[in-house]
Amino acid sequence: MTIRPLLPALAAILFLTTCFSTPAAGDMPLGSYAAEPTVRIGVLLKAQSAAIGLDGNYSVVNKETGEVLAQGKNGDFTVSLVPSPSHGVPGSLYRITVGSFKSYEDAAFHTEKLNRLGEYMRIAYPDGWFIWFGPYSSAQEARAVLEKVKAAGYANSTIEPVPLGKAGYIVSAAGGGIVYSGSSPLLFRASSNLVAVGKSTFRGSAEILPDSIGSFSVVNLVKAEDYLKSVVPSEMPSGAHHEALKAQAIIARTYLLNNRHRHEVDGFELCGTTDCQVYSGIGHEFESTNRAIFDTRGIVVSFNGRLANALFHSTCGGRTSNYTDIWSGPSVPYLVSVNDGTKTPVQPMDTESGFIGFLNDGGGHCKKSKYYRWDRANTLQEMQDIINETIPKYLNRPGLKPGALSDIRILERGASGRVIRISIDTAQDSYVFERDAIRWVLGNLKSTLFTVSKNSDAKGQTTFTFRGAGWGHGVGLCQMGAMALARDGKSVRDIISHYYKGSTLVKLWD
Ligand SMILES: [Zn+2]
Ligand SMILES: [Zn+2]
Repeated sequence: MTIRPLLPALAAILFLTTCFSTPAAGDMPLGSYAAEPTVRIGVLLKAQSAAIGLDGNYSVVNKETGEVLAQGKNGDFTVSLVPSPSHGVPGSLYRITVGSFKSYEDAAFHTEKLNRLGEYMRIAYPDGWFIWFGPYSSAQEARAVLEKVKAAGYANSTIEPVPLGKAGYIVSAAGGGIVYSGSSPLLFRASSNLVAVGKSTFRGSAEILPDSIGSFSVVNLVKAEDYLKSVVPSEMPSGAHHEALKAQAIIARTYLLNNRHRHEVDGFELCGTTDCQVYSGIGHEFESTNRAIFDTRGIVVSFNGRLANALFHSTCGGRTSNYTDIWSGPSVPYLVSVNDGTKTPVQPMDTESGFIGFLNDGGGHCKKSKYYRWDRANTLQEMQDIINETIPKYLNRPGLKPGALSDIRILERGASGRVIRISIDTAQDSYVFERDAIRWVLGNLKSTLFTVSKNSDAKGQTTFTFRGAGWGHGVGLCQMGAMALARDGKSVRDIISHYYKGSTLVKLWD
């Protein structure tokens, strides 16, 4: 057994000189799959240490050299981080960090705006989503680009040193001494086709590799269909009707194929948290969801020969949302508002009176949801506390004091009934927010399908009362509605084509 020195990976970092472009979150080409793909899921991120267990005949292989580092029957290993010795010392490289952004999609949207600077950039996920420029070989060079980035409207961008060498790790076998020291990617696999990482057990094998922020990742290499077995039950109750579970399986598979680029910067595809799709291993699989995955094997939602952006939410409230009522950008032909119930809603939905008529209607497919209709009352002081926290955050102005709240006004409602623009009026200013941001700036409203009124009682106590419908953004498939449609005898095809207008189901692998 030999212990290798930690080699700096300077050449690899400097090699990154091409320009950057980001595919949209949805609408990727269908791709050709001769067989079911193996996907790379980050199951332990930013790790300083990890425990990896292998059942059955196992091997640990250096993926760079092909060398077998350890083999045997039933092995347990611990991996410990060895930080790069050159992190932040004089002579370092520098990068510019822009952000944070609330999602990968949001960061991707801003890379398109920043592309005209002609500088190399990429999307990174060190602690929330960021855009990184560089690396640059001197602080002066980085500062010159920083000025351009700031001038483009990204005022709180900063420069930080980049580690010259990758982090490495020491791998020890339980009772067997050191197996490896260095920073090559290592593959852990066993005849059981199972690998334990900490307390969770995953199908497939595991790889460890250094990440982009000086720690390491544990990546699970797993067949796409096996991955879905742990994902689908986190997204829909396993007791739901078989046809509804099939719809959810198809959606999760479509999302997987649309998003294999998200964590490229760290050498894997998707992470296992709510940021991508929750994935926690075989301990979270169910017979019913496994069957729904098996019965839809290889099938995805497609539109116009491309993968659809198969968005979903819990409860639409009786009418789903247009994509453009929630996010800015061009409209998406299959993500348009559909009537999710037996009655035709009062028209038009974009007036206050039309919307109140809709609220009083109880005929939605998702009416069994406890969020089909909801209300929320907040005192003036409660709303003041909410906006004092959310407005500076959303405007990215940390020191801002919004001023004494006087009113919350709906300025515009979309055709699907969703509030598109509000004004929050204070003694100091009127703050206008649009679309999805409205939910968060008003303190986690269940949806943007709401109306608000301000009332003062005899004692002069002022209350804001929100009346609303649904839970979630409302775009695409309504899960509570899909479950009801399935119980009523609708097939997975009926359900998918109801919520994704004009879409088709395509089988990509057998
Ligand atoms: Zn992720
Ligand atoms: Zn619904």
